[in-house]
Amino acid sequence: MDDVDIVARQLGRRPRAFRAVAVRCPFGRPAVTEQAPFDEDGRPFPTEFYVTCRHLVAALSRLEAEGGVERWTRAAAEDERLDRSLANADAEQRRLRPELEAGIGGSTRGGSLKCLHAHAAFALARPGYELGDRILAELPALWPDDCCTDL
Ligand SMILES: [Zn+2]
Repeated sequence: MDDVDIVARQLGRRPRAFRAVAVRCPFGRPAVTEQAPFDEDGRPFPTEFYVTCRHLVAALSRLEAEGGVERWTRAAAEDERLDRSLANADAEQRRLRPELEAGIGGSTRGGSLKCLHAHAAFALARPGYELGDRILAELPALWPDDCCTDL
């Protein structure tokens, strides 16, 4: 089974705009993928790095359901250091994919972070993104035993 097959099982569908595996979990399974700026139908794909690990997706979704997007958007607005890390990461994303104007997860400067999955994925794929690292630090455990090896 190749990486695309495993990602398809993680997502429950064939991945769109798949480019490569960017991060693997300690069990060797894809955890974050690198995405092309446009999918096979020419539609923009706003997320450069995409979480595919089911456990990580679920943990981040729980954080979002508890108001995490609003809370971290506010934290970035109120904390100069976090705001700077966000600006740097947004700039890095534009350098990596100049085809699209938007920042991480399709966010715009001064607006909502939009999607915690996109920020967490960026932090895992491009170490040193402090805001994303702080979001990841709120999760109970990144990789449960055996993670996605049952797929
Ligand atoms: Zn996993």
